[in-house]
Order: sequence, then C-alpha cells, then structure tokens
Amino acid sequence: MPLASTAPQKAWTIEDSEELYRIQGWGEPYFSINAAGHVTVSPKGDRGGSLDLFELVESLKQRNLDLPLLIRFSDILEDRIERLNACFARAIARYNYPGSYRGVFPVKCNQQRHLIEDLVRFGRPHQFGLEAGSKPELMIALATLNTPDALLICNGYKDREYIETAILARRMGRPCIIVLEQVEEVGLAIEISRKLGIKPLLGVRAKLNTRGVGRWGTSTGDRAKFGLTIPEIIHAVEELQAADMLDSLQLLHFHIGSQISAIGVIKDAIREASQIYVELAALGANMQYLDVGGGLGVDYDGSKTNFHASKNYNMQNYANDIVAEVKETCEERNLPVPTLVSESGRAIASHQSVLVFDVLGTNDAPSGDPGAIEESEHLIVRNLYETYLAITEENYQEAYHDATQFKEEAISLFGFGYLSLRERARAERLYWACCEKILKICRQQEYVPDDLEDLEKIMASIYYINLSVFQSAPDSWAIDQLFPILPIHRLDEEPNCRGTLSDLTCDSDGKIDQFIDLRDVKSVLELHPLRSGEPYYLGMFLGGAYQEIMGNLHNLFGDTNTVHICLTPKGYQIEHVVKGDRINEVLGYVQYDPEDLLESIRRQTEQALQEKQITLQEAQLLMQNYERSLSSYTYLTS
Ligand SMILES: *Cc1c(COP(=O)(O)O)cnc(C)c1O
Repeated sequence: MPLASTAPQKAWTIEDSEELYRIQGWGEPYFSINAAGHVTVSPKGDRGGSLDLFELVESLKQRNLDLPLLIRFSDILEDRIERLNACFARAIARYNYPGSYRGVFPVKCNQQRHLIEDLVRFGRPHQFGLEAGSKPELMIALATLNTPDALLICNGYKDREYIETAILARRMGRPCIIVLEQVEEVGLAIEISRKLGIKPLLGVRAKLNTRGVGRWGTSTGDRAKFGLTIPEIIHAVEELQAADMLDSLQLLHFHIGSQISAIGVIKDAIREASQIYVELAALGANMQYLDVGGGLGVDYDGSKTNFHASKNYNMQNYANDIVAEVKETCEERNLPVPTLVSESGRAIASHQSVLVFDVLGTNDAPSGDPGAIEESEHLIVRNLYETYLAITEENYQEAYHDATQFKEEAISLFGFGYLSLRERARAERLYWACCEKILKICRQQEYVPDDLEDLEKIMASIYYINLSVFQSAPDSWAIDQLFPILPIHRLDEEPNCRGTLSDLTCDSDGKIDQFIDLRDVKSVLELHPLRSGEPYYLGMFLGGAYQEIMGNLHNLFGDTNTVHICLTPKGYQIEHVVKGDRINEVLGYVQYDPEDLLESIRRQTEQALQEKQITLQEAQLLMQNYERSLSSYTYLTS
C-alpha cells in the first residue's frame, strides 16, 4: 500500500478536492465535481446542462470504446468561439470602436476534420474564418470554409503553387489573404498575379521589436524565423508600388508567440503594431485589417499569474486592450480603424477535449514496521535501527541526514564485500522506514526545511498509466508543459497517496512528474490507493490544442480512441466515434504488411510442428493470438 498520511481525520469533502486540484482556477465554467465525487462537465458553460464524466466513460466502455479515450465536447468548442466573439463585441461597444472583429482559427492547432467542420459551423454567425500555415492546411481551409466573407489567412512558407492557389481562390469569392512572410514572396506574388491577371489580397507579417516572453519569446525580433523587418517592409511597399499593386496590401499581421502570460507584453506589441499600421496607410497601402496573431493564453494552473503555465489577464482584458489601443492610434492620425483579426488557437481549442486513461498498477516505496533487531546484526544495520527508533519532531531533520549517510555507507560496504545481500536488504528496508517516519512528521509541519523537500519525491508511488506521453501529451515531454491532471472519481475521498505517473513506453522520459500548483509546480500528485478489482481513472484536461498532431508513435502506441459528445435536451449524444489505431495500422506506418507477418508466423509454427517442438493446440493458440492482436488497440485492454 502506498504511504498514507496521518493528518488528523476531518471528513474529506468534494470542496477539498476542488481546492486541491484547483479546478475552479483552470476549469470554470466547464469542469466541476458532483456530490458523488465525480468530475462533471458543463459543455455549454454557464448556459446549463451537465454530465457526469465518470458515468460517461463507463457507458462508452460498454460500447467497446477502450481507454485511453479522448472525449471531445463540441459544445465547449462552440462556447469558446462564442466567448471570444462576445469579448470583442463588448470591447467594441465599450470603446465605441467604429469597426468590427473577424477572428480566424489557426488550423495547425488542431486539424482533425470533425473539429474543423464544427468550428466552421459554430463560427458562421460571427464570420469566423481559418488560418493556414502550410499548403496542406490551405487545402483543408479552402475546401472546408464555406462561410460567406469569412477570412482565410495564408501564412507560413509559400511556394509558387501555394500562392497561385490562394490567388485563384479569389475567383470563388473567397477573401483569401496572402501574408508575405519572406522577402522572396513579394516578387513571387507580383509575378503570379500579373500572369493570372487577378489582383491578390496581401498582408505583411512584421517582425516586431516587442519581445514575447517565455517559451516562444524568440518568435519576435529581427532574427525571428518569420516576418519582415521594417526595412524589408519598406522595400516590399516600394516593390508593390512599382508594380502598381499597393492597393493589394491590406493587412498587417504579427505573432509574438504562443501562451503570452503577461498582458504588458501584449499591450506593447499592439502599440508597436498600431503605429506600423497607420504608417503603412500613410505610405499609400489600402490598409483594412490588423491581424494580431495568436498568443492569447490559457490558465493551465489556474493561478492567474504571469507564470508560464498561466496568464495574468482574461479574454476580456485582451480584447479591451487591443480595441482601445488600435482606436486611439487611428484617431490620432485621423484614419479609419481596421477590421480586427485574431488567430487564437490555444484559447479556442484547449478546453474542448479531455483525455481519460486508467491506472494499471502502482509501485510503492516500502512502508510499515521494519521488525525487531537482533544483537548479532551488522553494526550499520543496528545504527540505522537506532536512528529509526530515535526519530522525533525535534530531531527529524538530523535523523534524515544520519539515515541517508548510513544507507550510503551500507551500499559502499556491500561494494567491498563486507555486507551480504540480505544485510543490504535489511539496511535499505530500515532506511525506507526512517524516511516514512520522517515524512509523516514533515507533513504536519508548517514549514519543511529545503533539504527535506525531496522526501515526498523519494517516497512517492509510481502510478503506471495506460497511455503514451509521447502520443497524447507530447508537450509535457518536450517542453515541460503542465496540464491539469486529476482522478475523475473518488473525489469525495481523501487522496492520501502521493505519486508520479509513468507511461507504457520503454522510455524513461515517458513519465509525468510535474503537476500544477498554486505556486510554481509540484513534483508529486495527490492520488488514491488502488482498490482491487476496481478501475482508477485519471483525466488530463486542457490538452485540445497541439497535442494530437504533435504526438508520435514511440513504441508504436498509436492514436487513442476519440468520441465526439454533444449535449442534448435529454442528456447527450455521441456524434462521431473515431477509432484509435489498431496494431496492423501502426505496423503499416513503418512499412510492414500484416499479411506477410502473419505468413511468417504461420511458416515458423509449421516448422516447429514438424520438428515436434510445439503441439498443434499451442500452435493454434499462438496463431489466434497473433491474428487477434493485429486488429486490436495498441494500448492495454482489460
Ligand atoms: C501558432 C500560431 C498561432 C496560434 O497561436 P495560439 O497561441 O495557439 O493562439 C497564430 N498565428 C500564427 C502565425 C501561428 O504561428
């Protein structure tokens, strides 16, 4: 059993769980806990209707949808779009902005067909458009976006074919704006539009001087990967003017990075970009749009701070600052205001999906009474035993150092052959007993000395999860991104174990050992002890942006099962089921033909049969298993 805390027993409530996992901070208004101690989802936000996530998972399992399972709530996606548009509408009203807002969704954030189709449908009342960052994404956007007048913003590296396609799309009445990001694209756009005899809609992406902060801080500045420097923009204006195409230049774009956690940075960027905008208009460009890019943050830890996993502003502050700043700058110069465009990806797509996975087992630090000592035992063992007995609230810090030193000595003695394997086991066992006793004292202290902070980590249980971090939470592995993780049931019960999560891959990086906390991060997560014969489900939240497409096939764990859930007046409805990869599919990705593999096994068993190394029955069982596995889920099934 994992180490249980011995804090004085006050009945644990769901409010305690809410506070512990900080659900209100990151989950409002979509996630909360019900009286049964289960996570509930209110996909329409404040507009009513909710469902019990645990019961939903149980009923999906009965439909043979095994865990891990990605559950998408279309209503949340709709609510996010509504919210963003409402925030801009309020800001526009508040500041009397004589223009409008027309958002676009960056397809790179989540390209899944059902999601993009939903997005276009939900965005229709707001003429919400799409942003493409590559040729394949342009192809998705062109074919899917059918909202009249919704913008299609073309970013990223472009070749001749990309630009030609985007210009031709104007003939279908599509406001397809080509954002010039590289110097070469200017000449290419001029040449292609001349050849086609079609005037393109053009934008420029500016490299701002304003620095983003944190992970994507290098997305701006003169050496940024994308965009034109101010001298390059001036050059582009001159080129367009010479080609008599300056009226094509209608949009200014910037993107200072994702997950901007500080509102100050956003304000600085808007200020700089607004000035560039009015200057471009003064130079004779036919300016119509100011596209503020992405960067609108998500509060993953619910702390409302400028910590990288959080943000110190809300969506309304964001819209207000953009609207107010742009209006002021344009008024000063007596220029009409632009249509405002934003490319918020993370803020739109993060909340809509929840990943639910089960715990397969735990590995716990040894605990319990170490038993009595014999006079004849080795001195080092007796020393450890004495240390163990003597631990009190007064000396626990000193005792920890003694125990650690004795344990190290024991290992060193073993290395020189002075301690038997059994004696070493005894020493280690006593060391763990000391740690357990000290940790219990630590947990009751207001303040824990720095050198004891690692004790929780040392004593934490490992929870083995039926998941691949590389497939389902790649940013947690690659860039230490934090996602809220918590059990989706038993939340009326005190989670008195501490654990880290280890995934199914044979890779020591396949783990999660950083969790959200009010201050900074915590290295262990509060969890419940497993009960035999009962499943234990964890949910990872806010992972709807970037994770699905960046996930990889490490150890050949494939896409998870995905369901789309939509709220109905009577409950909910499963709109789509997208089955996760089967083993034969992932084998196909690495060029194996499942038929060939099966044939190879058949031949080998035939040979073994002839050599009488296998019985007919065994051979049949092996073939059956092999064949069945080929068409089964890549994850463990119960
Ligand atoms: C990635 C990206 C976005 C989306 O950024 P979020 O922070 O997810 O909103 C928007 N615009 C451009 C150009 C991007 O590269």
